[in-house]
Order: sequence, then structure tokens, then C-alpha cells
Amino acid sequence: MDKLDALEDVIATRFDSIVREEAAVLLRPGMTFELTQLKRQLEQSIVRLAEVLAHSNLTVADVEKDVETEWRAGKLSGRLDVLLYAEDGRKIVLDLKWGRKAYKGRLEQGLATQLAVYVAALRGATAGVLPHAAFFSLSRGEILATREVQFSGVAATAGPAIQETLARLERTVERIEAILMAGRVPVTGVKGALPLLRMLGVDEAEDSAYLRRTPGDACEDCSYGSLCGRSWETLP
Ligand code: SF4
Repeated sequence: MDKLDALEDVIATRFDSIVREEAAVLLRPGMTFELTQLKRQLEQSIVRLAEVLAHSNLTVADVEKDVETEWRAGKLSGRLDVLLYAEDGRKIVLDLKWGRKAYKGRLEQGLATQLAVYVAALRGATAGVLPHAAFFSLSRGEILATREVQFSGVAATAGPAIQETLARLERTVERIEAILMAGRVPVTGVKGALPLLRMLGVDEAEDSAYLRRTPGDACEDCSYGSLCGRSWETLP
């Protein structure tokens, strides 16, 4: 049995036990198509990932690894889905996502702040070689990474380097901290609000050095709409 056959056997066994433990709804009558489809998708994705890692000489160092580090006046903590080691000692985080389009868009627009935070969390512990981070789309079996690290057979996604996204994030956070310390809370998601960077006093010519969110983007994950007025400004 070669390594790929062995991997497929492991995937099949693990998949069956995970479905029993975490997704038993897929075992109900009438769900055979969904179950088969999901199993095939995951098998293909994991085999593809294993091939890319092997051809790129990358080793899996850890999975679901908790990290915590000092950042500015506080702490960053989180859990890395997959931590890889490259031959030159570089650490690379793979963040597993189901979809693809939204994460590719974040990389292209320099808004992959989650990956930037992972890089910040690892950089203190990495002597000499800067860490890197990328997405892996489980539904497509595709690594989404900017150009700093070459994965074998994977075309780089356009967009600024993750290190650059981190630098923009840190500049933006510094401005936000300053405005909050002055007792002002920028509200960008209501009608007629100025873009965040204008509120922070950034000159338009310097926008590219900061994170450029579209007004209202942040509101998707925010539950304070009733506090800022966004939730009730559309009421008759
Ligand atoms: S909904 Fe949240 S993120 Fe959006 S403007 Fe209001 S407070 Fe800010």
C-alpha cells in the first residue's frame, strides 16, 4: 500500500467516526447524497493538501495549537488550525476555511487581518525568518496565499504580503487607540458617516498605508447596531 492509499484509508476511517460524533444528522435517511458528496470533497481536499505539502517540503508541526503573545498594550491569543515548518525554519500557519471566494478577496484587498494576527503571534518566537500565513479552502482543496511563500503548484493570490497587511493593521490600530483615548468613538456604519480613515485624521494620499475597510463592512459581525443607531435608522 503506498502513502496515498494509506492516507485515503485514514481519512475514510476518521470521517466515519467524526460524522458519528459531530454530524450524525448526515446519517439520517435521505442524506446519502450530502454525506457522499461531503466525504468525496474532504478526501480530495486532504489528499491535495498532503501532495502540496510534500512537494513543497513542508512539515506539519502542530494542529489546533493555542498561542498567546504580547501585542501593544494587551495580549493576542488564538488557536492555529495547522502550523507548518519549512526547510529554512520558517513557520507557516494554515487557516482552514470551508469557502474560497471571500478569503481570496480578503487577501487581494489586504484585509486578511486574521492571518496578519497569526503572523504577529508567531513573530516573537521565530528568530531570523519571518512567519507566514495562508488560507486553505476545504471545499476546493486550494491553498490561498500571497507571493511571499511558494507552495508547489499553487499560483500566488494577488495582494499585499501578509507582513504588509500586519503593518497596515498596526498603523490603523495605533490611530484608533489615539482617538479612543481622546474620548471619541468612530461610528462608520450609519448613513452619512465619514470613512474610518477620515475620522482617524489620515490624509487620503496616505490611505494605502492603512487598512481600507468599506463603510459598513465591520457591521456584519457587530451586535451594537442599536447602540450606534444603525439598527433603527431605517425604521419608519
Ligand atoms: S453596527 Fe457596530 S460596527 Fe457598525 S457602525 Fe454600529 S457600532 Fe460600528
